[in-house]
Amino acid sequence: MTGSTHFAAGAALGAAVGALTGQPVAGTVLGGVAGLLADIDHPGSKLGRKIRPLAVVLEERWGHRDSPTHTVMFCLPAGLFLGMLAGLFLGTPMLAISGVLGAVSHLILDAMTKSGVRPFRVWLPKLPLPGFLPEQAKGRLERWNSWAAEVEKRTGKRHYKGEVVTGQDYREHIIAAFSWVVVALVITISK
Ligand SMILES: [Zn+2]
Repeated sequence: MTGSTHFAAGAALGAAVGALTGQPVAGTVLGGVAGLLADIDHPGSKLGRKIRPLAVVLEERWGHRDSPTHTVMFCLPAGLFLGMLAGLFLGTPMLAISGVLGAVSHLILDAMTKSGVRPFRVWLPKLPLPGFLPEQAKGRLERWNSWAAEVEKRTGKRHYKGEVVTGQDYREHIIAAFSWVVVALVITISK
């Protein structure tokens, strides 16, 4: 999905939560920005252009959509962190939920596209094996690394795929338009 659709959907969810906490506009912005977080693995995306070096590293290492940012393991804490920062700053900690919903909505939207997502992959660090280590320690590290690879393989097995071609499907436009209607309604009603 395009950045504008991700922003719109995140904004709608964020607005709804924001309205419940008395901060509909802040919730809208927060949810929208959180909706863009996962795409920092793509140098051409809205956020990726802003933090290009990080985006390039992520994309080269794993490829867009296959990097750790397109998983629940990233989106949940990243959305929560962003939401808590904004919530504490504005004195409304419950706004954190806008961040979480916005960030996780990214995965649901991308799951509707042809490239799909593997949202439940669990990433564990692979450890380096420096030559100076004794054989026994190396063996342990190797066992950890193969276990980490196995966990990643198993949790990454299911590939959620839909039919939407990003930016070229009327269903994406409907989602974006509907989201903005929700934002407008929520903000109007909660005034
Ligand atoms: Zn994405």
